[in-house]
Amino acid sequence: MGKRITVIPGDGIGKEVMDAAMLVLNKLDLPFDYIWMEAGDEAKEKYGKALPDETLEECKRSDAVLFGAAGETAADVIVRLRFELETFANIRPAKSFKGVKALYDNVDIVIVRENTECLYKGFEFNVADGVAEGIRVITRKASERIARYAFELAKREGRKKVTALHKANVMKKTCGLFRDVCRSVAKEYPEIEFNDYYIDAACMYLVMDPYRFDVIVTTNMFGDIVSDLAAGLVGGLGLAPSANVGEKHAIFEPVHGSAPDIAGKGIANPSAMILTACMMLRHFGYVSEAERVERALESVIAEGKTTPDLGGSLKTMEMAEEVAKRL
Ligand code: ATP
Repeated sequence: MGKRITVIPGDGIGKEVMDAAMLVLNKLDLPFDYIWMEAGDEAKEKYGKALPDETLEECKRSDAVLFGAAGETAADVIVRLRFELETFANIRPAKSFKGVKALYDNVDIVIVRENTECLYKGFEFNVADGVAEGIRVITRKASERIARYAFELAKREGRKKVTALHKANVMKKTCGLFRDVCRSVAKEYPEIEFNDYYIDAACMYLVMDPYRFDVIVTTNMFGDIVSDLAAGLVGGLGLAPSANVGEKHAIFEPVHGSAPDIAGKGIANPSAMILTACMMLRHFGYVSEAERVERALESVIAEGKTTPDLGGSLKTMEMAEEVAKRL
């Protein structure tokens, strides 16, 4: 069945990596209608709104959103989109690639981050001169939903273990609730090993022994931080894709932002965006197409035909052309 996909390149390298991913997607014969829309810093300058109403409406109408990056307005665009489309699960795989210099080989971790609550709800207030407060919201409903999603993902992908990350010794109420819910959902999945760590200890374990992790489930802000850490373990943000999935909608976006330091130079690594597109293909059941693209990308990287962040000398579009050529 045909799919309607909203494509939002956004700002900075978002545009560059989106062109690269579309070059690859267009090599596949897929029944996709791509609707290009605007959002981000440039949209704000042009229309006075970082997420124009027409863009939001189109996202709501579509089967999926393919998103590049937003700069300063990221909170108004991507964080808002995640809330508006109720994509409660943010899936961020961190997987090693042959030929990429990284701290470890053969890392294969999936981070399942709760996407709708925690401190990122944006409940922040200036309560007095020089005093600001933020409210952390954790609910049983959202915690249960994300814990179950993590176990179902583990089951679906043949993974063996789920680890919950929290700080329940300090944030006794909010993290305590999250931890307890994860522990009770774990009982429904006796075939999958479960454990939980404090977030600080988990960061150390991730750096010293990433092999003890398989699927990680955690709250919104910890998930944000830990997924960049995990991306760093396997070669950096240039290789880190992500999916935001809800009951009705899905948004696919690389973990990286608009990278103003390299924007406009044509040297952004398109791999994260290409892998993000693969997550979308899998979401729609185009598994063999996703595997073809992933294999092509793996061979391009293994041969060193990469952008400078991975040690190569190719431009963004040249690397994408190398991938497209092998499909
Ligand atoms: P934003 O505010 O939009 O999140 P940022 O610069 O704070 O932008 P990122 O865009 O995630 O955060 O970039 C962090 C660092 O990683 C930058 O030095 C950037 O150049 C680098 N980086 C991010 N994405 C890529 C990529 N696709 N290819 C190469 N380098 C990248």
